Order: sequence, then structure tokens, then C-alpha cells
Amino acid sequence: MSAGRFAPSPSGDLHVGNLRTALLAWLFARSTGRRFLMRVEDLDRVRPGAEQQQLDDLRALGLDWDGEIVRQSERQSMYADAIDLLAAAGRVYPCFCTRREIRDAPSAPHTPPGSYPGTCRDLTDAERSTRSAERPAALRLRTDVDQWTITDAVYGSFTGTVDDVVLRRNDGVPAYNLAVVVDDAAQGVDQVVRGDDLLTSAPRQAYLATLLGHEPPTYAHVALALNASGQRLAKRDGAVTRTRLEARGVSVLALIADSLGLVGTTPAELLSTFDPDRLPREPWTFIPPAQLSRRGARGSGG
Ligand code: GLU
Repeated sequence: MSAGRFAPSPSGDLHVGNLRTALLAWLFARSTGRRFLMRVEDLDRVRPGAEQQQLDDLRALGLDWDGEIVRQSERQSMYADAIDLLAAAGRVYPCFCTRREIRDAPSAPHTPPGSYPGTCRDLTDAERSTRSAERPAALRLRTDVDQWTITDAVYGSFTGTVDDVVLRRNDGVPAYNLAVVVDDAAQGVDQVVRGDDLLTSAPRQAYLATLLGHEPPTYAHVALALNASGQRLAKRDGAVTRTRLEARGVSVLALIADSLGLVGTTPAELLSTFDPDRLPREPWTFIPPAQLSRRGARGSGG
């Protein structure tokens, strides 16, 4: 059964920009008769209490989701199985490069800046055993394409770079790109709505899905929220979380609905005016309300 999802990383509080993306993911799913799933991406950078706070915020916004919440930390064997499958097809190799080595490596003719130059792709067995005595290896995907095209509801057809992505980090943690692909496929997610900071990751993920025998999802990469200086909105920008805004009498749902040109006081009501073809492509600039009152507040630093 088809589904959309929201997949926050419990590394801190969600701000209005994240909540806006969550609402959009919900609207995309519900307006197309899909299930809506909640997945906690807790393989990395977990802050104690953040998951609970995020889920409380999403519920308070009026969002609901289907089935149990899935946590990536509980699905390690699925990621290992996917790596085994790729390894059996000759598509996995150990990589011993440090970040600095990757940064300083001369880029190969076909590799665009920022992509892995392939340093460890064709090491001999002897070289591998020498290097593995020095540091633990990450595992990388042996790709056979340079780029891949995805279909995006906001960006249309988008072609982006595919390089030898990390599948398992050298500390043994499954890499984000692998986990997201395995989970979306296993959960029946065929519609991925998320911030457009992940647009350039989508071609890699769609390619990886194809290698694992899955049909890639359709995507909608939605514009992020920016602060007054045009940078990505962050917690340090002041009152940007639901609790801090509501303490100032601001309804977060009304604020977000207004930014999207939608009418209604509940997510379900917003559905009637939601039209994915009329989504703003420009980022949303959010200027937090000034601190009118310092009662109970610890200052404006956030
Ligand atoms: N966990 C990722 C994040 O919070 C989102 C991953 C995704 O939607 O594919 O940025």
C-alpha cells in the first residue's frame, strides 16, 4: 500500500521550517490517499528527549500517522542484509580514506567536485590488508553510472551526480543514504516529501533503490525556511520552535498555513486548499517575533 512519510533525526528540536516540511509531507500523502508514516532516524546524533519533543510537536500541530513509529536503530539487520545483497553482486568495496585524503585527492576526469574520487575502488588485496591494519574501513558502493534522473513534484525532472556513496561508515554505523532507501522500500513509501537540502541526495538514493530491486519513490523537495539574513533557519534565530512561539501567543499551524497560502485551522481543513502544483518554490523567510516579554524566558539566545 502506498505511503508518504516524515523522517526526523532526533538531534534537537524541530523549528517552524521543519514543522512546515512535516505538514507538507502529511498534505501530500493525505491528499493522494496515501498512508502517512513516522520514522525516527536515530542512527546518528541522538539528543536525549528530542524524539519525544519532536513527536509532541507534530501531534500538537494536528498531524497524525499510521501504524507504529519505526526507529532506524532497531533495524540494523535489514541494513546489513542490504549490504550483503550488494556485496554478493560485487558492488561493495572497503574504503580507508580519511576526510582529508578525499578532500586533497586530485579529482578524476569524470568526477564532479565533492564526489568520491574512487581512491580505494581498485586496491589490490595486498594494499587492502596493509591499509586495514591502519584504520577500520568504511564500505562504499561500486557504482556504474555518473548520474541519475529523478522525478520531483517541485523540480520536475532532476538529474544529479551519483558517486560511490558510503554504505557503512567506518565506525560500523549504516550510512544515511543506505538506511533511507532500505526503509522507504520496506515500508512501502512511494512518495518522499522533504526539505530541498536533500534534493542532490535523491539521484544517489533512487539509483541505490534500483540496484536493490526497488522502484524509486516519487519526490517532492520543498523549499526550506530561511532567517532574516537569508541563511537556513536555525534554533539560534530565536523563537522558532512550537513551544517558544506558542508561549508568545503564536499559532504555529496558522503561521505555516499562511506561508503556504492555505486556509483552515486544522491540517484536515487545509487539505481542501492544498494544491501541490501551486507550492511556492522560493524559500520561506521567517522572522521570529521579538521577545515581547522576558517573563520566564532565559534570554533571546535560544
Ligand atoms: N532524517 C533526515 C533529516 O532529518 C531526513 C531524511 C529524509 O527525509 O530522507 O534531515
